[in-house]
Amino acid sequence: MEIVHYPHPALRFPACPVRRVDENIRQLVHEMTRLLLEHHGLGLAAPQVGYPYQIFLMRPDRAQEDPGNIQVIVNPVLSEFRGSAEEDEGCLSFPGLYQKIRRAKTVHLRAFDLEGREIARTLSGLEARVAQHETDHLHGILFIDRMTEAARLASRDALDDLTRRYRDAQRRGKIPRDEVIIERLKELVSQQGAVTASLATPQAV
Ligand SMILES: [Zn+2]
Repeated sequence: MEIVHYPHPALRFPACPVRRVDENIRQLVHEMTRLLLEHHGLGLAAPQVGYPYQIFLMRPDRAQEDPGNIQVIVNPVLSEFRGSAEEDEGCLSFPGLYQKIRRAKTVHLRAFDLEGREIARTLSGLEARVAQHETDHLHGILFIDRMTEAARLASRDALDDLTRRYRDAQRRGKIPRDEVIIERLKELVSQQGAVTASLATPQAV
């Protein structure tokens, strides 16, 4: 498992709620934890490793290397967006790109942990920022979509460069064709089954 880079189609594919926390999901979270620590990230969403599931990890304290301090967030719903703050943000799917992004200062998070226990907390500061960035990922929204026009212009060369490298890797057969990736994403969604509720309770199996 690897972190996928822009413009990999998994980054734009809406993630489905997790219905069953089975061995595959546990293995996915295990691998995501490894990658988050290896890349010194603050957060990582399942679509960033090619899995269209509503799961993200967050570690607002980067100094904290203990995997036990990484929070696993399943089927998150954010509400009560309050205040606004502009801070530098990066994303593991956009290596080397940092821009100021405006986000709410505090948000309320409702979600589940991997054991299916409900999480209901008001987040602030870096934690609120990471939760907003990662929840966006689950809806196919990327931080470039939140940039001001000026920041987007300033990022153009970096984005062109990422696109060029991605297409190059595809031409060399290192990354499958987009149609093949999208078929795989659809298959992974069907493995979780259809869920209608926006806040689904995952069942541990
Ligand atoms: Zn990101």
